[in-house]
Amino acid sequence: MTEKQDETLAAVTAKAGLPASTDERRFAPGAVEQTEHQHRTLVEGVPHLIWRSCDLGLWTWASPQWLTYTGQSQDESHGRGWLDVVHPQDHAHTLAAWAAAIGKGELDVEFRVRRAADGRWVWHHTTSLPLRDETGRIIEWLGSTTDIQPYKDLQLRQAELLDKAERHAQELEAEVGRRMQAETRLQHAAYHDNLTGLHNRAWFMERFRQSLRTNGAPPTCSLLFLDLDRFKLINDSFGHPAGDTLLAEVGQRLQGCTQGEAALARLGGDEFAALVEGFDSMDAALRLAERINEALRRPFMVGTREVTATCSIGVAHAMAGHSRYEELIRDAGVAMYEAKANGSGGCAVFTAAMRDKAAEALMLESDLRQALSRGEFSLRYQPICDADTSGIIGVEALIRWRHAERGDVPPSQLIPAAEKAGLIRNLGQWVFRKACAQMLVWHERYPTLDLQLNVNASADELRDGQYLADIQEILATTRFDPRRLQVEVTEGVFLRQPETTGEILDGLRALGVRIALDDFGTGYSSLAYLSRYPVDTLKIDRTFVSDMLTQRRTREVVEAIIRLGHAMDLLVVAEGVEEDAQLQALRASGCDLVQGFLLGRPLNAADLEAVLDEQARLGPFIT
Ligand code: C2E
Ligand code: CA
Ligand code: CA
Repeated sequence: MTEKQDETLAAVTAKAGLPASTDERRFAPGAVEQTEHQHRTLVEGVPHLIWRSCDLGLWTWASPQWLTYTGQSQDESHGRGWLDVVHPQDHAHTLAAWAAAIGKGELDVEFRVRRAADGRWVWHHTTSLPLRDETGRIIEWLGSTTDIQPYKDLQLRQAELLDKAERHAQELEAEVGRRMQAETRLQHAAYHDNLTGLHNRAWFMERFRQSLRTNGAPPTCSLLFLDLDRFKLINDSFGHPAGDTLLAEVGQRLQGCTQGEAALARLGGDEFAALVEGFDSMDAALRLAERINEALRRPFMVGTREVTATCSIGVAHAMAGHSRYEELIRDAGVAMYEAKANGSGGCAVFTAAMRDKAAEALMLESDLRQALSRGEFSLRYQPICDADTSGIIGVEALIRWRHAERGDVPPSQLIPAAEKAGLIRNLGQWVFRKACAQMLVWHERYPTLDLQLNVNASADELRDGQYLADIQEILATTRFDPRRLQVEVTEGVFLRQPETTGEILDGLRALGVRIALDDFGTGYSSLAYLSRYPVDTLKIDRTFVSDMLTQRRTREVVEAIIRLGHAMDLLVVAEGVEEDAQLQALRASGCDLVQGFLLGRPLNAADLEAVLDEQARLGPFIT
């Protein structure tokens, strides 16, 4: 110690009223008592529990604070007695720390002590340093133990908080991950088509817009608009899941064709589009169309069945005037319809003339709306005859539309246009009411002929929930005998909404109305529906009759249909009989009824009356 330090120490001790030197402190009169008193106040004043032990950790003395804190007596704390108030779970590590301390010369351990005041286990931090003799051997330990529960609590709380924070962070991370995934999924869903995995309409429009953004330069792209031929029929015949399978497969083949050369998308339903870019896009588009038609030529497997699915393709080239993608899509669509009209599996390039034609179709629709009120519709009645006697047993009502400017519009245009315009119900009702009224006149005039009335119902009509009620109402108001009525439906009707159609047909049957299956043999699955639905009559499609004399197999088909019909107790009608030889062949095959130009064209009421007059007078004639 330096002299200066000595002086400072002396000054401090003096000020504190303590003996100036060690010797003085030890030997001043009353010094022992004073020192002891000081020690006691020190030991009892500090917020630590103090103890002494022998070299092996057996306690020899515990401070009054320990005794108060633990409720132990001095004796109880001696030896290993202090361990009695240490938590049993902490014994092992505390004793291990002691064992280590004896070698290390330093004890530092934490254990729980039972607090007498409330019986609670309280964490304590215990440190101790040894006293050694001159040889360095440990003779005693002096130790103190301190309540660190607040600190432990804090630690615990911190750990909890940390844990919570960690969990929160993990949750957050997971949530972010989930959101990102969802976002990616959404993004994907927003621009992709679920069924085919191709891009969708939204993506295509976006892509297309970009392509038309040329900063004033003429655009250099071509658009292919594809639509599957007869897809509805496939959907209707095999069901929607099968239709979906087909679409997915078509999508894959298209992708195989366009790979890298064109942007491809499914626009919806059975419509696809491809965009070809570049200065030779026109030629490239036509080459692509060829490749596509080639690729679709291979049959598809739908379930266990093989089907062919051609597509019609419309091509439109972007021109200087095309600034909006809608225009180009519309043009390509118009070209596609033209291709379709020219037969399945074709391709057409858009021309202005096509647009005029399309506009015309639209006008047709709007004219149709007025036609009913203007009385532009009329009915023709085509005789249905007994195959053996050629006598008229009934008529089929066929609609005619004479347009003021266009002239006659054939039903093949009129019916689809009416369906599209949502007017088919009105049209059907009109036909039905008119035909019933006419038939009532004839029933009265020619009671012996016992004429039956055949009326056509389109698929759209039967899909209308009101159909049955409409028929019932008309039958009731006209007082027409339902047993003299036959409704002609095509297969398409059964396929689209099998349950509803079944109910409607059952309803008709319950009224006494009979049901004929029209155009039999042209659909996909005629036979399945025969056993499922109430059918009374089969009408063999015209195409079979027209070929039956030139194609042996077709004739066999006709004969098979007749046998099948008879086996099922159905009447069989042959449609489109134009030649006598056909009639003879049908007669020979046992066909029940015949219909066709040979026996009578569709006639207006007055002309048919002339025929009926004659028949009523002379009876049926045999040719
Ligand atoms: P469909 O029910 O198969 O009617 C028979 C069609 O074949 C009629 O054509 C008829 O004129 C024609 N036809 C009859 N005999 C012969 C023949 O010997 N040779 C040839 N080449 N053709 C013959 P139309 O009147 O043009 O009707 C076409 C289709 O339009 C009908 O086919 C029917 O599906 C539909 N249709 C006609 N009128 C109505 C109607 O009032 N309502 C509904 N929903 N559809 C109708
Ligand atoms: Ca018919
Ligand atoms: Ca027919």
